Amino acid sequence: MEENESIIFGPVPSRRLGHSLGINNIPPKVCTYSCIYCQLGKAIKMQVKRQSFYRKEDIQRAVRNKIKVAEKSRGKIDYLTFVPDGEPTLDINLGPEIDILKESGIPIAVITNNSLIWQDEVRKDLMKADWVSLKIDSVEEEAWRHINRPHKGLGLELILEGALKFSTSFSGKLITETMIVKNINDTDRNIGMVADFLSMLKPDISYLAVPIRPPAEKWAQPPDEKVINHAYHIFSEKVDHVEYLTGYEGNAFAFSGNVEADIMSITAVHPMRKDAVDILLERSGMDWGIVDNLLENDRLIETEYGGHKFYLRKFKRQDT
Ligand code: SF4
Repeated sequence: MEENESIIFGPVPSRRLGHSLGINNIPPKVCTYSCIYCQLGKAIKMQVKRQSFYRKEDIQRAVRNKIKVAEKSRGKIDYLTFVPDGEPTLDINLGPEIDILKESGIPIAVITNNSLIWQDEVRKDLMKADWVSLKIDSVEEEAWRHINRPHKGLGLELILEGALKFSTSFSGKLITETMIVKNINDTDRNIGMVADFLSMLKPDISYLAVPIRPPAEKWAQPPDEKVINHAYHIFSEKVDHVEYLTGYEGNAFAFSGNVEADIMSITAVHPMRKDAVDILLERSGMDWGIVDNLLENDRLIETEYGGHKFYLRKFKRQDT
């Protein structure tokens, strides 16, 4: 095969991974799931059988070339990330590809939907990575079928068992990602069940996401901010480190000297309690008028949880 530039993309800025060089090791839209919120649209080719798609030498050469280009332009690459337009663990060569890419000395990340983790070989492959993100939208059968629309050859119980097995032996950074969709998996019961599962899985970071890009199904909508705030707190009771993943790649937590920018970047990652906002305003010598303005302009949302007022960044659906 000629070097296929479409196999590699970036480096692109990623809030989770810094500068990430993406590896598209699966042909477009080949997946084990057909999620209602998938950005790839409806025409997913579903399969559960692993197979070889590209030669590992071609992936290696394409990555080497991109690294050279990045070095020349002094571009930074923090991670080589398997994040295809499909499910990366369907690639039977994933393990050998990770092995061969380690020559670069750059850490390797894999963003998987978790559906094949019950297979020993898949866990063995993922074990080689430095950073692995598992999708866990629901641990309840009906909601799982509704939101992820899995291939008929998959079973939720096996998947959850596989994820737990993986978490006990994986020495890299374990991340989870939970997409919350309005009226599908946004009940306290559903979110509580996922949180209970995560308390056993013990990820380094759990991300909460909402559909903000055009989904496969128009009716897959983000829940209200109040529900997202609630989900954040339910997760936080069980998991040490919870963050929003809203698609915002801005300068989260960087001190900008601009209190409005600080409030917007912090609330994009997690809700801020009123007293925390007060302290930030006091430090910057500004008053509450800034927050009122953000609320009036629909850029910030005020909501309550556990007797406290919280502020969240307003999630906006992206048009492109
Ligand atoms: S797992 Fe990812 S690629 Fe597959 S259908 Fe779901 S969102 Fe799309």
